[in-house]
Parts: sequence; C-alpha cells; structure tokens
Amino acid sequence: MQHQAFQPHPEIAQRFEDLHPPFARQAATIEANRCLNCFDAPCTAACPTHIDVPRFIKKISSDNVHGSATTILEANILGASCARVCPVDVLCEGACVMHRLNEEPIQIGRLQRHAMDYFYKSGRKLSLKVSELRPEKIACIGAGPASLACAAELQQHGFQVTVFDRKPLAGGLNTYGVAEYKLRSVDSLREVELVRSLGVNFEVKDFTSQADLEQLEADFKIIFLGVGLGPMRKLNIPGENHPKVVDALEFISSYKTGGRISVGSKVVVIGAGNTAIDAANAAKRLGAEEVHVLYRREERDISAFSFEYENAKRAGIQFHWNTIPVAVHHDDMSLASIECAQVWPSDKDEFRKIPSSSFHLECHLLIPAIGQAGLLEFLSKCRGVELAQERVVVERATGQTANPRYFAGGDCVNGGREVVDAVADGKRAAIGIANVLQHEAAYA
Ligand SMILES: Cc1cc2nc3c(=O)[nH]c(=O)nc-3n(C[C@H](O)[C@H](O)[C@H](O)COP(=O)(O)OP(=O)(O)OC[C@H]3O[C@@H](n4cnc5c(N)ncnc54)[C@H](O)[C@@H]3O)c2cc1C
Ligand code: SF4
Repeated sequence: MQHQAFQPHPEIAQRFEDLHPPFARQAATIEANRCLNCFDAPCTAACPTHIDVPRFIKKISSDNVHGSATTILEANILGASCARVCPVDVLCEGACVMHRLNEEPIQIGRLQRHAMDYFYKSGRKLSLKVSELRPEKIACIGAGPASLACAAELQQHGFQVTVFDRKPLAGGLNTYGVAEYKLRSVDSLREVELVRSLGVNFEVKDFTSQADLEQLEADFKIIFLGVGLGPMRKLNIPGENHPKVVDALEFISSYKTGGRISVGSKVVVIGAGNTAIDAANAAKRLGAEEVHVLYRREERDISAFSFEYENAKRAGIQFHWNTIPVAVHHDDMSLASIECAQVWPSDKDEFRKIPSSSFHLECHLLIPAIGQAGLLEFLSKCRGVELAQERVVVERATGQTANPRYFAGGDCVNGGREVVDAVADGKRAAIGIANVLQHEAAYA
C-alpha cells in the first residue's frame, strides 16, 4: 500500500477550495500572543487527545513552529487532520476562557493547522522516543484514524505493527469520507505516510471469513479492531435499487478519489446529519442547480452541527422538514422524480403520513444518508468479542474486548463520532495493549 502515487483530480481541487483559509505567519503570531496560557487549561481538558494547547500556542508565539508541531504530534499523530476537521467550537475553542471575558475564543484549530502545515512543508522527520524493540506482533484491522493512532503509539512502545485495510488507500474516512473542502485525500495520505515512517507496515486485505481471522490470531499476539461502521442503511422504498440512487458514503468517496466529477442538475438527499449535509454541499459544488434535503423530523431535531447546517443554507440547499421519500420513479436509465409525503411530527421512530400530502420532486440523483449500520457480520466472526447495539463492547480505560486478545476503538465502539474521538480511542487502546503485554512478559 503506497500512497504517494495518488493524484487528486484537478477539477475537484478547484471546486472544493479550502473552507478555512490558513493563517499567514504574522497573523498566527498575533493570534498566538492573545492566548493567556492558562494553568490547567480548559481547552486541553476539552480535547479528547489532550493536546497541550497553551504549550503549542506559546511555541508559535516564540517562533518555534517546528517545536509546536512536535508538541501536537506527541499527543495526536493525526494533528493535521484534526486541525481541519474537528468541531472546535464544541471542543477546545468552546472551552476557551476568552468566552468568560466576552472576547473571541483563541482560534486554536487554525493555529494547530498553521503548525502542522509548517511541519509537513518543512519535510522534516518526526523524532519520537521509541522504546526498546519487542518481539510481539500486533495487527490492526482497518486503516482509519483509530488504527493509525493505535499503530503509531504501539510502534513507539517498540512493538511490530501491521495495519490491514480492504481499501487500496489507507486513512479510512479521512481519505474517503470527510468533505474535501475540510480535508483533502492527499492530506490524509500524508498523515498515513507519517505513521509509516515510524515503522508501521501497511497491507491491503479484506477480512471476511472466520479462517482469515484464525490465521491472523495465529500470526499476531493482539488484534486491534478499528473497522469503523458499515454501509449506509437502506430506505426500503420502491425503486431504490436504481443505479442513480447512490448512498452518501459511496457518493463522497467517488468524488474524493476523482471517480465522479459531476452530478445531474437536480439532486435529492435523504437525512439531515453531518454526512447528509456533506453530500448536499458536495452535490452543489459538483454542479447541481437544485439540491433538496428531506428530513422526517423538524429543523430543531437535526443532528448536523449548526455551523455545517448554516453553510448548507448559505449554499442555497433547500430543506423539507417532516418529509419522507415514498418511492423512486425512473425509466430504465435515469431517475425522474422522488415521490415524497409529509408526516406528523413524532418523538418516537413512528411516522404517520399526512393524508393527501404527497408531492413529487424532480430528481436526477438520489443520495440516501440515513446513518451507517454496524459491521455485524464481520464482528460476529471475531470469537469472544461481545457486541451490544451493533457496537463492540470494550473496557473504556483500555479498549480491551471480552476476548483479551482483541482490542477495539473508534466508530465501531462509539457508534460514530469524530476523528479526534477515534484517535483518542486508538491511543488509549495502544497503551492498554502495551500494559497487558508488559505485564505478561514480567510474569512469564
Ligand atoms: C461523510 C462523513 C463525514 C465526516 N466528517 C467528519 C468531520 O468533518 N469531522 C470529524 O471529526 N469527523 C467526521 N466524520 C467522522 C469520522 O470520519 C469518523 O469518526 C472516523 O473516521 C472514525 O475512524 P475509525 O478509524 O473508527 O473508522 P474509519 O475511518 O471508518 O476506518 C475504518 C477502516 O476499516 C476498514 N475496514 C472495515 N472492515 C474491514 C475488514 N473486514 N477488513 C479490512 N478493512 C476493513 C475500512 O475500509 C476503513 O478504511 C465524518 C464521517 C462521515 C461518514
Ligand atoms: S483556554 Fe484559551 S486562553 Fe486559555 S490556554 Fe486555552 S486557548 Fe489559551
């Protein structure tokens, strides 16, 4: 699995320009100087990976930008993607004491990005402390943020780590799922290369059978499950198996990797979570004249972050509340319309159609984005690993599952949160694994 060969499509780069422009050097220094360098900094406590925020900001203000990047990477090996994709206003920046002083919070995300951009541009190597080499081999299934963080931490503890993924490019949703105007696939792959440079081995392999897992158990001492979630849930309506019905994950990954550069003029998206909003925004950027979002609840119930929703409204995306799709109408080759109905508001998951409320929306591409199912079929093959509500059950402090040789973290455990949560889980599990193996070695 070598990633340098991946080239972004020039059209995609043009249409998905950066959502948040980077700081110029002087602006970064001025912003860094506003930080109060709080003792017991609440911004650090609010970050799931506990980056020492005042420390990295101080280093920017004293023009030690490489040192700043090292501080970030010591806590979070995916510091560059987190700087771009983290919902900072509900994490570090949301906790900044400046709010209490009626001042604008410090722009921690942009400062972090400044340090990380500097690091990657400089081409300098990351020198992290590595413990003495250990004989135990560890496998991580999935090459998303959880496994990358786990592998990087384990490598520093001296273990030999191999990361396996079914996809040709590593990085998980950072490479294939996160909106391009936040994180480009090339930037995600740059982070994968950083993890590789620490000595982690990457292989393409799709684990499907019990026999695959038994072989892995024979070859590796510990297995970390960082497999994320499964495919998008189906709508279960007539006509949805048409080729112009493309689920949001497939749609996003196809444009991010250059496979799709245009859409029809009228697009309908189903759902109002962050994935739905990302898909709707992408459809606009790929040339759709009209993008409609259908959501079965009310505006106040949407799960998308409010800043994402505001962006979508600014882009001209139209929202239809208390509305469900009922059928997809098409001829052989192309979609014609989505038949919709209005439903009564409901607190539960039961939606009754309002009589005579149905209407048609002209549509050339339908993108369902109603949540991902868990990877139950695969996970049920991991012997002794307990599941509850489609998630892997782990000991929170260590990431260990009911089978002591399996650990897990990220979306497959938390049901789908943020990149930074997956990184924190992966790192915590790595420390859990190191403790178990060191303990075993001491009592052998
Ligand atoms: C559309 C979308 C947009 C998002 N935007 C943001 C955002 O802006 N900010 C943010 O913080 N978070 C965002 N997230 C959430 C974030 O991407 C995830 O929380 C994070 O990627 C989870 O990391 P993970 O390592 O657990 O799983 P993933 O990133 O899903 O990685 C799992 C990997 O496991 C591989 N895999 C699965 N099963 C197997 C198998 N049997 N054999 C081999 N390989 C396997 C998959 O191919 C995949 O590469 C977004 C999510 C989506 C879906
Ligand atoms: S809380 Fe705000 S002011 Fe205090 S250290 Fe963090 S970023 Fe600086």
